[in-house]
Amino acid sequence: MSIRRAVYPGSFDPAHYGHIDIVTRAARVFDEVIVAVYANPAKAKSVLFSVDERVGMLRDVLGHMPTVKVAPYYGLTVDYVRQVGAMAVIRGLRVFSDFELEFRMALANRRLAPEIEVVTFIADERHLHISSSTVREIASLGGDVSTMVPPIVTAALTAKFKERHQNGVETDYMTSLHD
Ligand code: ADP
Repeated sequence: MSIRRAVYPGSFDPAHYGHIDIVTRAARVFDEVIVAVYANPAKAKSVLFSVDERVGMLRDVLGHMPTVKVAPYYGLTVDYVRQVGAMAVIRGLRVFSDFELEFRMALANRRLAPEIEVVTFIADERHLHISSSTVREIASLGGDVSTMVPPIVTAALTAKFKERHQNGVETDYMTSLHD
């Protein structure tokens, strides 16, 4: 019997406990899960961490899970899913507002690749409020993100913002967490 492989695609800029929760749940259901880090050259300037940094951090934090692999990918998600011989795309659902976008993406992907199923998991309620953008914003303002991301990600955020501040790089995120 062929193995049941799934791809969990995303930006993971950076990975947080919500993502890790989804991977853990997916790994219980599928024989193999590939965490696929979207490496869009056009978006290279708008992300905080390079693809290599994002892949490296995920490999570190997921290294204890033997059936989970991490890889960068380019182009259409369904093309990558076919290329690696996977049967499903994993997505995580947080709040109702995620649903509309995920629903539309799932239908578009089904049009492109009817043989691939989209499977959504709901994270533990402790992690539902976490998003990479919130993590980036809090960290950029010197806030404590240690309950949202693993220690190596906290360290990477601290180093990244220190480097950006030293180089005078402006960080222009939402202002909701400013006073
Ligand atoms: P994208 O750029 O595709 O939104 P993300 O890295 O933000 O990629 O997220 C990848 C996937 O993880 C998406 O399906 C997203 O809904 C899901 N996800 C993100 N944060 C959480 C969370 N806190 N709980 C559950 N799922 C989440």
